[in-house]
Formats: sequence, C-alpha cells, structure tokens
Amino acid sequence: MSCPYNSYSASLMEKHGHRIYRVGIDAGFTCPNRLSNGGQGCVYCDSLGARAAYQRKGESSFGRDSGFVSDIDTMSCNSNDIQKKPLVYEEQDIMNQIERGISFLRQRYKAEHFAAYLQSFSNTFAPVEELKKLYGFILGAYTWESFIVSTRPDCLDDGRLDLLASCRDACPEVCVELGLQSGSDSILRSMKRGHDVACFIRAAEKVKARGLSLCVHVLTGFPGEGKAELDETIAVINAVHPDALKIHNLNIAAGTELYDRFLDGEATAPSLTRHVSNTIYLLRRIPSDIVIERLMCETPKHRLASPRLFPDKNRFLGILEKEMKALGAAQGDLWQGH
Ligand code: SF4
Repeated sequence: MSCPYNSYSASLMEKHGHRIYRVGIDAGFTCPNRLSNGGQGCVYCDSLGARAAYQRKGESSFGRDSGFVSDIDTMSCNSNDIQKKPLVYEEQDIMNQIERGISFLRQRYKAEHFAAYLQSFSNTFAPVEELKKLYGFILGAYTWESFIVSTRPDCLDDGRLDLLASCRDACPEVCVELGLQSGSDSILRSMKRGHDVACFIRAAEKVKARGLSLCVHVLTGFPGEGKAELDETIAVINAVHPDALKIHNLNIAAGTELYDRFLDGEATAPSLTRHVSNTIYLLRRIPSDIVIERLMCETPKHRLASPRLFPDKNRFLGILEKEMKALGAAQGDLWQGH
C-alpha cells in the first residue's frame, strides 16, 4: 500500500516531474493581530517561528536537541519592532535572502527548482502599491516556478486579490496560504485570532474565484478542542475544498501568551498519541485530492516548552503511516461528499 494520504512530495513529482524547494523571504511584514493586540497576537504566536530556519539570525548556536531556553522572548520580535510602519524592507536585503536561500537549498538538497515563499507574518498587510512594488521585485529576481504568499483572511480585499492574480503573468503558479486554524468560533476567540470562521470562508472563496491556488493552515489540539470542534474544522475544510492543507499540532513556545497559561497549569499541548488520532480522524474525512503539505509543527527544541517528547518529523510520519495502514485507513475514505 502506498502512502495513505496525498503527500506533497508525491504531488509535486506528479504535477511537475520534480520537487520544488521554497525559498523563505522575510520582507519585514508585521501582522494586524499583533498590532491590535499589544504585540502578542494569537496566544500561540511564536514570532521567530514564522521564519525559515536558515533565515533566522542569532539562533545558529542551537541544535536539534538543544535544551529549552525559557527567556527566549528577549530574542523575539519586540513591541518596538512591530510598531513600525508595516512594510519596511531593502531590496538588497531581499536579494541577499534569495541568494542565501537558493545556495543553502542547492547545497543541502541539490535543489534546482524554486518557489518564492513570503512566509513571515501577514504578507498582504501593506498598501497595494507597496505590495505591487515588492512582489514585482521578487518575481523579477529569479525564474520562480511558484509564488507563495502567506496571510490572514482579514488581509485580503479585492485590490490585494487582483494584484495576486496579476502575478500569474510573471509566475506560472500563485498560491495563497490562509490561516483558518479552527472551524470553531469559540476556539478562535480563545486563540485570540482576531477573525471568525465566516471571515475565513469569505476570503477562501475569493481566492478560489480568482483562480489562485489555496493552501489552508489548521491547528489541532488547542485547549477546549474536542471531537465536535474538530468536526467543525473538517466541515470548513470541506466547504472551501482547498488545493492543499497544512496540519499543525499545538506547540507551546517560549515568549507566547500560551506559555504563561502553561506555566499556570491552564494549558497543555496534545501528546503524540492525541495528534496521531486527531490527524487520522481529520484526514479520513476530507477529500483525497487535497494535497497534504504538512502534518506537524516543528518548533526548535530551544523554544519549545511543550510537548518536549514529540518525535521528529520522519519518526512522526512513520508512526502516522503505520497506524493508518494498521487501521486500513486512507485520506478521504470517510469523506461524506462522495
Ligand atoms: S496571525 Fe500569525 S503572525 Fe499574526 S499573531 Fe497570529 S500567528 Fe502571529
């Protein structure tokens, strides 16, 4: 039996005949939820985690098995930084990031095909004219196979969507990554997401109506989430039917509001067993054509307060696949939309 879910690497091989590697670019965006929320944003927001590992400065001394550093928030995006005007970047800095990213991926993976990935914070959170200049610069800097823009549902009005759609003139594929996190409004309030489910659905439908690719991010195992709330998340995924999905288990990172709740004994992160169970439950109930780009969160160990014993990605994927095969389960086998 092959992989029991629609894996990202297999879908890239099928669609393009080769892998495409993402070059993470931090263009200095902020996030409206951090600005409106005293600098904290979502209660789990790990400001450092929004950047590709090879683009993070000041963390090179930490390894895969580093111990936890509880005062890591002194290294995080501080409130002075986030009060700056939303879009502050230098073209030379962007160029340096692109060159550094491509060189790293070539050396590490012998990569030859690349996607530009605007990953950090909310990458449509700036006036359209500024976005047009930035996107144009990035798209002109390399022959990308894909342009991926990660953002929030409340940062996508018609002007921004039209701009993203126009980027297809310069790049064959333009993908919007949109955070849903939970299909339950009560969980979204508890997360302090600053938007509701209806806002997400409106944005997702507009992305699809423009013919842009849509990748949805969800987060499972948040305190208060039971099967009913997971079912609500599944219902929203099925309603918008994205091209791709990223599933994250809740990680509690240093310097977040959730970390304070964790220290108080009021928040826990899901165990390996719970995340395997939640993931299989979700995968079985969504269409088999949704590409699964991610199945767990990978907060570096020095920032991760909990779960400390969660295995690395390869081990987790092995455990998940073994469990799915033992159950005779596959993505979409319990999807109600057949
Ligand atoms: S939307 Fe993303 S960047 Fe903004 S506060 Fe939430 S997790 Fe952080």
